[in-house]
Amino acid sequence: MKPTQASVITIGNELLIGQTIDTNSAFIGQELNKIGIWVRKRVAVGDDALEISTALDQESMLSDIIILTGGLGPTADDITKPLLCEYFGGKMRQDTETLEHIRYLFEQVYKRPGALLERNINQANVPDNCVVLKNPVGTAPGMLFEKKGKIFISLPGVPKEMKDLMKTEVLPYLKKNCQRAAIVHLNLLTAGIGESVLAELIQDFENNLPSSVSLAYLPNYGMVKLRLTATGSSEEELSKLINPLFEELKKLTADYLVTDVDESMEESVGKLLTQKKSSVGTAESCTGGLIGQMISSVPGASTYYKGSVVSYANEIKESLLRVQPSTLEKVGAVSEETVIEMAKGALESLKTDYIIAVTGIMGPQGGTPDKPVGTVWVAVGTSTQLTTKKLQLGFDRVRNTQQTAVTSLNLLRQFIREEP
Ligand code: ATP
Ligand code: MG
Repeated sequence: MKPTQASVITIGNELLIGQTIDTNSAFIGQELNKIGIWVRKRVAVGDDALEISTALDQESMLSDIIILTGGLGPTADDITKPLLCEYFGGKMRQDTETLEHIRYLFEQVYKRPGALLERNINQANVPDNCVVLKNPVGTAPGMLFEKKGKIFISLPGVPKEMKDLMKTEVLPYLKKNCQRAAIVHLNLLTAGIGESVLAELIQDFENNLPSSVSLAYLPNYGMVKLRLTATGSSEEELSKLINPLFEELKKLTADYLVTDVDESMEESVGKLLTQKKSSVGTAESCTGGLIGQMISSVPGASTYYKGSVVSYANEIKESLLRVQPSTLEKVGAVSEETVIEMAKGALESLKTDYIIAVTGIMGPQGGTPDKPVGTVWVAVGTSTQLTTKKLQLGFDRVRNTQQTAVTSLNLLRQFIREEP
């Protein structure tokens, strides 16, 4: 039997004009793919009854499952619910459990004074021909309809609510009721090698992959994630096929390998610091705190991250990091000498085991013939040993900043791994 195929319809004028970026269908696509349901098409439509019902007609001709998000709210532009009711030939009824839940949210959680508004009470109205999917974190419930053997699932547009409903209701339902392909993904992260050079390096490997295994390149600011995917009918057989291939890929990319699990650079550095029971701090000029933000974005970072001195201006480099005025005068802020003094000053004031210091010119202005835009000095290390590196980046301001942050985190990772 052929595996179930799905379409995702996202609803909202804000998606069409780019005011909101459609992250819902990306999330739904990823989650369905993980459980072996193939997303055939993703469509975005405005808050328009004709557009929505046309999309429903078209997608139900293509796919077995149609997932919709958005348009369930209490405002006039949210027209999905009455439209679905009519489309599936039902009548509105009040759902007591949903009403109780709405009352609970307004009284106990949001702590709104006064009686419920009629528009909030109306959120408990649902078509009598759907299965109500309980929304634990919001007022609009999800709804599941069936028509001519096709399943239609309507979810709120708010990303957090959509995700919760996917996890608690939709995915368990689909796992139970759909014909799913077995699928195995294995990810590794490389840094310090461009996508095309990497492709050259592994081209023989890629050309010899069996047809049931595919390789994806996912580049992102100085890093390339490689994902091997095997699809078939049994997970056990797929693992047997894909595991040795993954080992081979790891060997081929060993010089650039950051991690062989699905995690980010900052998560990988965090793990290493946790294992070593060590702490880290940052002294950031040109990145303006981005490295600290990346490190602290990982849950549990407080066990190893102490803080940062964002010394964007020279006077802060002098006053808080004790960079010598004579150094700044002689060789300038973007120099090996300055980055070393920044690192030493930060180690002293933050009292961490490791430090990352960066100073550079991100552009578009500020470049000179001997220090063009994209010149960056990085220092990583400890109070007894520091390593420095000069980067010569050639991108725009945003990319230069991101690339500096990623590269300096990677330098620290390498420093720690190479320590005796
Ligand atoms: P609510 O009950 O909160 O009103 P809703 O189902 O009516 O939910 P919308 O009003 O369409 O949802 O959107 C709620 C919020 O979710 C808005 O801020 C909107 O920008 C955002 N949103 C809607 N669709 C998407 C999407 N596809 N991707 C990311 N964000 C979205
Ligand atoms: Mg809307």
